[in-house]
Amino acid sequence: MQDYPIDKDIILNELEELHKLDHNYADGRILGSMCTEAHPFAKEVFCKFLDTNLGDPGLFKGTKQIEEKVIKSIGKLLSLDNAYGNIVTGGTEANLMAIRAARNHARKYKGITDGEIIIPDSAHFSFKKAADMLNLKIVEAEIDENYKIDVESLKEAISDKTVAIVAIAGTTELGLIDPIEEISKIALENNIYFHVDAAFGGFSIPFLQKIGYDLPVFDFSLDGVCSITVDPHKMGLAPIPAGGIIFRKEEYLEVMAVDSPYLTVKTQSTIVGTRLGASSAATYAIMKYFGKEGYCKLAQNQMENTHFLSENLKELGYEIVCEPELNIVAFNHPEMDTNELASKLEDFGWKVSVAKCPIAIRIVLMNHIKKNHLEELLKDLKDLY
Ligand SMILES: *Cc1c(COP(=O)(O)O)cnc(C)c1O
Repeated sequence: MQDYPIDKDIILNELEELHKLDHNYADGRILGSMCTEAHPFAKEVFCKFLDTNLGDPGLFKGTKQIEEKVIKSIGKLLSLDNAYGNIVTGGTEANLMAIRAARNHARKYKGITDGEIIIPDSAHFSFKKAADMLNLKIVEAEIDENYKIDVESLKEAISDKTVAIVAIAGTTELGLIDPIEEISKIALENNIYFHVDAAFGGFSIPFLQKIGYDLPVFDFSLDGVCSITVDPHKMGLAPIPAGGIIFRKEEYLEVMAVDSPYLTVKTQSTIVGTRLGASSAATYAIMKYFGKEGYCKLAQNQMENTHFLSENLKELGYEIVCEPELNIVAFNHPEMDTNELASKLEDFGWKVSVAKCPIAIRIVLMNHIKKNHLEELLKDLKDLY
């Protein structure tokens, strides 16, 4: 830092120059991101709550009420009448809280001190971070030929050290939904904590079901489900950072509580101390603003683009990895190496991402990708074929 103050305009110019190096969503070239441009109204509300701190809720009673309301409202969307939880920074922190709750619960009620979590190969890497931080061993359940959890292998993975089973509603790479109903039964029979990671699918599956898409049940209507992660900053159109962790019971928060001596409340269960109230307020506002109807339209539009892309890719001769369940299309050229195809697309100005399991180009049809962008992409893919 320099010794003297600098004029605002000079600082802003410097920052804008650097900001120009960033890609922006509006030009429709970002094809592999699960984030998108937040809705302007959500950004407006976010800015109004920048000074609120939910780490000290006694000082921000109104904003704390907003967080409670938004958690209840997301809970209702997921078939739970009285939800507990928090708006956090994203799916990673939400998953970390869920696994911490599961670990602490198993330690307190079952005396497990060297726990294991069962996750599929298709799980998001945030579970590796969680296991590392919480000192848990990862046991991987296999995935079947449809890239979903193989239930038999999951059963075999259960041991007397298992503290949590994780399944995914909308996998990061392919957007697929695991057989959550079956896994819920297994979790109940074995009295094991069951966490559903719907970071990606949470803000679309319920709406797609509402408008008639035949998608499997994944939520709290299944008795075995203890917690669900949902990310308002993905299809919810809330500004970054906004993740949601929803718990079925308050005891899952209680087992994580630590004393918080200098604050207005006696204990704290979140990982983060000082934390944004703005994320809760913006999420609350955008959910009210859209209503179910608004989100249904968004989800339908995303799925129409998804099918438009996958059908046209097939017509061009590209190979689709699986029929999309949500708004992700993964594909390959029948002969060209995937990374070579990716780098050619990069040369055309597309920001693509490559899935690892299986290796494929992966396109996430977020709200910023419009039909005209897809037409341009398909034209380039036709030239490359
Ligand atoms: C995006 C995603 C995450 C991680 O969320 P962040 O907001 O990036 O922390 C976790 N799980 C799934 C299934 C995801 O799609």
